[in-house]
Amino acid sequence: MTLKFPEIKTELPGKKGKRIIAKDSHYASRSYIKEYPLVIERGEGAIIEDVDGNRFLDFMAGIAVNITGYSHPKEVEAVKRQSDKFFHICSTDFYYESFSNLVAQLAKMAPMSGEKSVFLNNSGTEAVETAIKLSRYYTKRPSIIAFLGAFHGRTTGALSLTSSKPKQRGFFGPFMPGVYHLPYGYCYRCSYNLKYDSCGIYCAEAIEKILCKSLISPEEIASVFVEPILGEGGYVVPPIEFHQRLREYTRKHNMLLVVDEIQSGMGRTGKFLAIENYNVEPDIVLLAKGLASGLPLGAVISKKKFMSWKPGTHGSTFGGNPVACEASLATLNLIEEGLMRNALKTGTRLIKKLKKLKEKFSIIGDVRGKGLMVGVELVKDRKTREPATRETQEIVRKAFKKGLLLLPCGESVIRFSPPLIISPEQVDVAVDIFSEVIKKIKRG
Ligand code: PLP
Repeated sequence: MTLKFPEIKTELPGKKGKRIIAKDSHYASRSYIKEYPLVIERGEGAIIEDVDGNRFLDFMAGIAVNITGYSHPKEVEAVKRQSDKFFHICSTDFYYESFSNLVAQLAKMAPMSGEKSVFLNNSGTEAVETAIKLSRYYTKRPSIIAFLGAFHGRTTGALSLTSSKPKQRGFFGPFMPGVYHLPYGYCYRCSYNLKYDSCGIYCAEAIEKILCKSLISPEEIASVFVEPILGEGGYVVPPIEFHQRLREYTRKHNMLLVVDEIQSGMGRTGKFLAIENYNVEPDIVLLAKGLASGLPLGAVISKKKFMSWKPGTHGSTFGGNPVACEASLATLNLIEEGLMRNALKTGTRLIKKLKKLKEKFSIIGDVRGKGLMVGVELVKDRKTREPATRETQEIVRKAFKKGLLLLPCGESVIRFSPPLIISPEQVDVAVDIFSEVIKKIKRG
């Protein structure tokens, strides 16, 4: 496959696609969302080909997972090499070199001072569960703070922290006790109706000024979980002081600051971790999604002293699978060798072009992002900022029909999270298609 740009040849879905979708719809759980009827056959670089031969330009990367694009030769080689040797030997109970190489590499790259320890598992949700347990175990405190709009996963512990959409929680409670939520640093829609920076960054002060004043004392709080940039909650970039104040407060009261980099990490923002854009040193870092470029892998990295738990306290049968470890080592090499740099370069181009579109289309209320983690918030009216929810869904579907893969997030935000191998020309094509689609949207 040599095409770098989209090409739609059939109606969507095509004949073969329709057959597969019919079977899937009959037997698969109804909980899956299915944003649009894409039935993938294969991929290369940032291009996906469906089973009917249509080609799409991917600006969602399997929800920010396919960091190195599709079938990167170095990933394929790493996976094949390990597959020829063995698939599994349970990292919890035995040893193999790719596991020890990966934990050493992650410890080296994580931006915390001193020695670090790493726990590997299979997914983002599991990394969150691990960090909940770890922070409670280390501090011997029961409570956890998380932020409204955040997504931390769907198992019962992680879901207790998630508060991105009511339907993700509805009828699954009661949840884990001891979890408190506060508004995130979302300046475009400040929950306190304040303005940056006359607000005094009240969103970060609220732990002290609201929670710890009337509900709970700081000595009961084990940890604060925060996404450096909100993912599912709307690609929200908080002001720099938001994270810095959280760091000061958590340090003062010996709470652990857990940064969920599951969507924002792995070079997407132009740095290995998004929190590095804020000059903040976390206590615990969570990675998954792009960590192994599409193979299931999650990681919890902490300062060594916090992983004080004893053998047998926590483990995983599949966590740190050798094939995924090799894929991850290849991914980390690639992001260090140039993908992080490319994320910054092409991301800057993307943001500049989207900001230009904002001047043209009043449906665009806000354009924000870092590197290739970019959100466009759509509104019915710039003054009232009423979310253009229906229009957002329509734009995503229409872009699909034109061969551009996008995903919504938040209430009315379109996220641009392409593989980090994307080229400047592909950015231009994506923005052109987006612009064409927006032009045809009727508001109301
Ligand atoms: N944390 C964040 C920030 C996420 O974006 C996600 C998934 O979207 C998760 C946690 C959960 O990860 P997983 O779906 O791998 O369990």
